[in-house]
Amino acid sequence: MKTTALLLTLLSSLLLPPSSFSASPPNIVFIFTDDHCQQALSAYDDSRIVTPHMDRIATEGMRFDRCYVTNSICGPSRAVIQTGKHSHLNGFIRNGNTFNGDQQTFPKLLQKAGYQTAVVGKWHLKSTPQGYDYYDVLVGQGPYYNPPMITADADGNPQTLPHTGYTTDIIGDKTLDWLENRRDPGKPFMLMFQHKAPHRNWQPGPDYLTWLDDVEIAEPETLWDDYSGRESPARNQAMTIETHMNESDLKLKAPGNLTPGQRAAWDAAYDPKNEAFLKANLTGKALVKWKYQRYVKDYLRCVKSVDDNIGRVLKYLDDNGLTENTVVMYSSDQGWYLGEHGWFDKRWMYEESMVTPLLVRWPGVVNAGSVNDDIVSNLDFAETFLGIAGVKVPKDMQGRSLVPLLKGKTPKNWRTSFYYHYYEFPGAHSVNRHFGVTTGKHKLIRYYGPDHGGGEIDTWELFDLDKDPNELKSEYRNPEYSQIRKTLETELARLRKEFQVPEVDPVPPPKEKRRGNKKQTPVK
Ligand code: CA
Repeated sequence: MKTTALLLTLLSSLLLPPSSFSASPPNIVFIFTDDHCQQALSAYDDSRIVTPHMDRIATEGMRFDRCYVTNSICGPSRAVIQTGKHSHLNGFIRNGNTFNGDQQTFPKLLQKAGYQTAVVGKWHLKSTPQGYDYYDVLVGQGPYYNPPMITADADGNPQTLPHTGYTTDIIGDKTLDWLENRRDPGKPFMLMFQHKAPHRNWQPGPDYLTWLDDVEIAEPETLWDDYSGRESPARNQAMTIETHMNESDLKLKAPGNLTPGQRAAWDAAYDPKNEAFLKANLTGKALVKWKYQRYVKDYLRCVKSVDDNIGRVLKYLDDNGLTENTVVMYSSDQGWYLGEHGWFDKRWMYEESMVTPLLVRWPGVVNAGSVNDDIVSNLDFAETFLGIAGVKVPKDMQGRSLVPLLKGKTPKNWRTSFYYHYYEFPGAHSVNRHFGVTTGKHKLIRYYGPDHGGGEIDTWELFDLDKDPNELKSEYRNPEYSQIRKTLETELARLRKEFQVPEVDPVPPPKEKRRGNKKQTPVK
């Protein structure tokens, strides 16, 4: 009996592709940023920045062009990744919630399969990380400089320790330290290398305080959007570059937590620029154009430091013989507005914030330089990590492993539509609650729940993405689209049933606790 089983195992292993002969299961390095959009990653768009190390993952691996997030906001996206479940099932529907770490998560399943697991950097789920052999994470959002970070003490209890330096570099240092000194080389690993950058308010690192000073960054086509082709939510938000950026966002005020040395370098870089700005006494469009340049340059400076640190980690893998048997995956918790529609921030089901970067390098499995256009999602990441490790995906996870796609073989029954749901209203930036469906060609959005004026909203938008990729004109009321509208409504209902979306939002949002945009002083 034993001999037969052994023969069968040998026979089946001979039938597997060559990559499966690897001596041990692949390691996984998941590189994750906060608010990094495809428009600022040169493998997707080189009109603003060159990101050589991120691009290396794309040129040696696969670039996914349509990776959609289920709920375009920081904490919820992270909870989706931990669980492989939509927000209404994992319980973390909006920032400010606390993640229930007792539930099933992919790192716990990887641990059971013999993986060692580590998370370094931004966590943002409030509760202490569970399922990780090692954690060293920022407190909440974490600052750009001198971050306190939480790690386990000798008894396994969380302790918060101070650090001095630039947070992006500190997260890079700690990631390299874990790889070099803390991991068990005898075990496969899953390492989450997670940055705070380039989240608001975009404070550049010491190496990039004056980088890009002498260039002008291209403006997006829709910077001057007047929102006339859409329903009231697009007009009633609080996220325009023109009106809703404060003095810290625009670096007219220095960060309050710098060391004297950091502060001197900061002032040396920003004081002359700010003096020139005040002297120019800009108004109207010229002022918005200045704000755009200041904002986007600072954002790109933050991205540049992340890219440098990715380069350090990729080099470590090269220098230590780890590249061949390590899957490197790059993504962000959602996309972002770099001035499109006149905005910064995220939240919307519109393309710029629903689409996020996804790059995957897996030597011997993924064809170098390949591009995938299927609809994939952060809902698939947990399942993909399990798939890479050869661990069975639990039935109650709601996404699918991307491993077949990585092998260039998209299953025939792969999804052709996608369900999105945003809950955080009232809340920062005043974006109405909404849900909807997209097929990549057409998109249907329903805004619902409390409205800006204290009443209720129930309104719809429909976009023809081929004809109107910038989503400037809703066709919902256009009779020519009535058949498409019906088809999308049916699909939306089907997806809501499949994903078990409740009719009433699962957790009542806390009493209005506006953060971010209420106490800000707009720069006139
Ligand atoms: Ca984010």
